[in-house]
Amino acid sequence: MLAYIGLGSNLKDPKEQIKRALSALNDNNEIELMTSSSLYESKPLLDIPGPNYINAVCKIETKLSALDLLDLCQEIEESQQRVREVKWGSRTIDLDILLYGGQIILNKRLSIPHPEAINRAFVLVPLFEIEPEIKVPLLGPIKLLLDRINKLDVKKL
Ligand code: ATP
Ligand code: CA
Ligand code: CA
Repeated sequence: MLAYIGLGSNLKDPKEQIKRALSALNDNNEIELMTSSSLYESKPLLDIPGPNYINAVCKIETKLSALDLLDLCQEIEESQQRVREVKWGSRTIDLDILLYGGQIILNKRLSIPHPEAINRAFVLVPLFEIEPEIKVPLLGPIKLLLDRINKLDVKKL
């Protein structure tokens, strides 16, 4: 299965946090890291105080189920000492499953496609960089989704 994961960090050397998480994904026997986007910088959501974020999107090929992939993402977050305090607060690392094949998944632990992706330049711009022709299930071609948002909300590094 092809899947796309969004990575974000704004604490404790964010670029290094992203690199560590990408290596951790690739180190899993059931995951092959196919591509990762450039790094992008953006301001915190809703002007929540805190350092700017570094974001990226990667494409993986995996045999893991969507829930097993979520478990792995959360293990990686824990291993990088993520602490959950306030919603959308600062974090060492965040791994969101953006897309899992062409599947639509909605259960207690997972919403795929990631419901906020459509509103977020820091997701859509790096996803477009690595997969310009992709069609997001329920939502349509990435090109059209990009037209609806302010691409200046992210800066390519
Ligand atoms: P947002 O989801 O708006 O980006 P967040 O990443 O800060 O916010 P978290 O605290 O990281 O939110 O995650 C809260 C819960 O979201 C997780 O425990 C997980 O079960 C759930 N979740 C639902 N859909 C997804 C998904 N596609 N990828 C990752 N987590 C998801
Ligand atoms: Ca997130
Ligand atoms: Ca998350």
